[in-house]
Amino acid sequence: GCGRSDDTGSTSGDTSTGSSTGATGGFPADSLIGVSLPQKTSENWVLAENLFKDDLAAAGFKADVQFANGGVGEQQNQIQSMVTKGAKVIVVGAIDGSQLGTQVKAAKDAGATVIAYDRLLLNTDAVDYYVAYDNFQVGVLQGNALLEGMKAKKPNGPYNIELFAGSPDDANAKVFFDGAMSVLQPKIDDGTLKVVSGQTQFTQAVTQGWKAENAQKRMDTLLSASYASATLDGVLSPNDTLARAIMTSVKAAAKPLPVVTGQDSEVESVKSIMAGEQYSTINKDTRNLVKETIAMVQALQKGEKPTINDDKSYNNGVKVVPANLLKPLIVTKANAKEAYANDPTLSKLTQ
Ligand code: BGC
Repeated sequence: GCGRSDDTGSTSGDTSTGSSTGATGGFPADSLIGVSLPQKTSENWVLAENLFKDDLAAAGFKADVQFANGGVGEQQNQIQSMVTKGAKVIVVGAIDGSQLGTQVKAAKDAGATVIAYDRLLLNTDAVDYYVAYDNFQVGVLQGNALLEGMKAKKPNGPYNIELFAGSPDDANAKVFFDGAMSVLQPKIDDGTLKVVSGQTQFTQAVTQGWKAENAQKRMDTLLSASYASATLDGVLSPNDTLARAIMTSVKAAAKPLPVVTGQDSEVESVKSIMAGEQYSTINKDTRNLVKETIAMVQALQKGEKPTINDDKSYNNGVKVVPANLLKPLIVTKANAKEAYANDPTLSKLTQ
């Protein structure tokens, strides 16, 4: 399967990470570096754009940073054009992780190194490295926060919940969901949690394109179909944009707000958390992720091997991609001040 493979007992020789691609020889210090970002489905991508532009330039590289607002075809063209322009490293945050095989193969054939950024590239051996916050752990933290938030309001279950997942073309979506379900499924099985709609499968929970309107519509439908008399205690939301859409739906239905999780530390959600509405988010500081990515580029430039701290978790269907995984942090109202202390924008919201 694709995405994150289990840590246990994976001893098959075919999945070794002894990739022959990547760090050989280095390249000129003023080379072109391509950064291909997806659609602006959350604030982290917009932050990444400016950080990549500024920090690659500050490191002496030429930077070509592009969004693919028009979709997969546009992203394919952008990567192809970065290859044509002679980029030495191409950093890709994929809209659809399984639709870029041709373009990243062209990059490899031209001698470039391919780094999957935040989202894994699937079903291709033309990806050298992966740099991201630990996606499975993000899900685990969300699952735990949902349980804790509901317990704080009402010490004893059973609790009625609904489950939302991200966009199925983004390789992260299933990993976030699996991480959360590793915590929630046992509680569903023992009766502590009740998914009143019965929609417990990833395929039932997905939100196409990570679009707020899709989550809001699904929540409207769930509320009218399953919560005419039942009380909704909690909602697993994979990120902040969808969390706010879910809360908008609940408010429109004039129901009490459930405990809602999130991710990304978006400004509006941090405000909502401080106001006691959204329960939690995840801090995945984009500044650190971009910094680690540029450190990889600099290592490659010198012909050195970049820092890797995980060589078993991310099987993309063809190979296990060597990864540099950063640690995500759960944020609730209780620790927001401390969590954002060194963030110039968010620290202002937690005073
Ligand atoms: C990122 C999340 C983000 C989502 C939607 C995911 O791949 O990891 O941080 O919320 O995309 O943009």
